[in-house]
Amino acid sequence: MSETIFSKIIRKEIPADIVFENEFILAFKDINPKAPVHVLIIPKEEISTVTELNGKEDAEILVQLFAAANEIANAMNVDKDGFRLVINCGKNGGQEVNHLHMHLLGGRQMTWPPG
Ligand code: 5GP
Repeated sequence: MSETIFSKIIRKEIPADIVFENEFILAFKDINPKAPVHVLIIPKEEISTVTELNGKEDAEILVQLFAAANEIANAMNVDKDGFRLVINCGKNGGQEVNHLHMHLLGGRQMTWPPG
């Protein structure tokens, strides 16, 4: 896959408000937040989108994404009232950055259906 702005954030070449980091995952506040809490959780490995995931090989990454989401939701005090996790995939999914990322949105009541 071709590199995106998220690769530069992973390498700390451009600034981001990082809220979580481990060997596999980086999470930082969205630059254009859609909720009081809006964090992007990304694998450090360059995977462009959901359809690039290969079940068995990438299982650990999926576990790490959800584990990070739980930890961040707890740290940012949205775990009790609830929050939303969103992964946009491709054009119709509204994906703008071609590096797999999970949005964690919280701090307000979410509505359904999404736009
Ligand atoms: P997508 O539409 O691809 O699911 O979401 C991409 C998200 O990345 C958007 O919510 C957008 O605001 C965010 N974003 C794009 N560029 C940057 C950046 O340079 N820094 C940060 N922190 N967020 C970004």
